[in-house]
Amino acid sequence: MHRAAGTGNSCFAEHGGRSPDLIISLDFKRADSMRNLTVNRRQVLLAATLASVAAAQPARLWAAAPKAGQQALAYYVTPVGDYQVTALLDRTMAMPSDQLLAGASPEQIRAWLAARARSVPTPTSLNSFLINTGSELLLVDSGGGELMGAGGASLQPTLQRAGYQNAQIDKVLLTHLHVDHIGGISQDGKARFENAELWVPQVELDYWLSDAERDKVPEAQRDAFERARTAIAPYQEAKRLRAFQWGDEVAPGVRAVDLSGHTPGHTGFDVQRNGERLLIWGDVVHVQDVQFDHPDITIAFDIDQAAAKSRRLATFKDAASGGYRVAGMHMAFPGIGHVRAKGQDAYEWLPESFSAQIN
Ligand SMILES: [Zn+2]
Repeated sequence: MHRAAGTGNSCFAEHGGRSPDLIISLDFKRADSMRNLTVNRRQVLLAATLASVAAAQPARLWAAAPKAGQQALAYYVTPVGDYQVTALLDRTMAMPSDQLLAGASPEQIRAWLAARARSVPTPTSLNSFLINTGSELLLVDSGGGELMGAGGASLQPTLQRAGYQNAQIDKVLLTHLHVDHIGGISQDGKARFENAELWVPQVELDYWLSDAERDKVPEAQRDAFERARTAIAPYQEAKRLRAFQWGDEVAPGVRAVDLSGHTPGHTGFDVQRNGERLLIWGDVVHVQDVQFDHPDITIAFDIDQAAAKSRRLATFKDAASGGYRVAGMHMAFPGIGHVRAKGQDAYEWLPESFSAQIN
């Protein structure tokens, strides 16, 4: 070992201190420039000939290829201990953020977005997350399905591209019953995940099934109750609807946590395995380019604006001090990253880089 190093050093010294690699590259350069001198005249003639041939060809020698019509199906696999979590992009939504966010003027919202090179409408991801425990497949939320417009959803083909079939899903876990999270669970009155149990937070289920709650909201918002009831009905009829409480372990190492505010039963799923942790936080954030800097800004979809605001602050604070990873349904795909504190009641989103390897 020492001898080899010594030999290398003496060789290095013989070449005036230049490394062998550098010498080879310098020699090539020299040979190259000499060759250039000798063929210079021939090169000029050749170039002139090529130019005249090119001029005689129709322009379609450089014809453009058709432009791409669609993006790739997007999924992203990341381990959490011995589990694997796959982020699945259902679609992106063009969000009129300046109209939907509350707590600042539309002008102010647009100025905050512009400061981060964003504008309105703001492209906003709709992600679901699949947890593969090795013995169970848990799908957290289902995208918007046909309820948000036929043809818009890519959860189904993306799930298959990621290597899974609907029939393999054991549990569909719901963070809450808004249409963009439940739209994919059923189609034409049938459960799309034919072997899965549908796990719904008890508080959330009680809210959307309550006629009294439905009657409290303006007429225009009552559709949301009907859609939720219709989507869960096939699972209810098949006796595959399970209500769970906050604190329950819905699978080994996956605990339901109270993130209520956005909706009364809004729930996160805290995955902890082998010392690693990922909190799937549902809809704690809708517009990441505004709400980390200004956690007090709410959105029209928050059923309890004050509770949504304080829950977001508390969730940011815990994630920042805990240093664990979080995953969000409306964070830019793949929607996984860290939260870092940035001054008084302001935070920063540190998105995880897409990795071509599963590591
Ligand atoms: Zn949502």
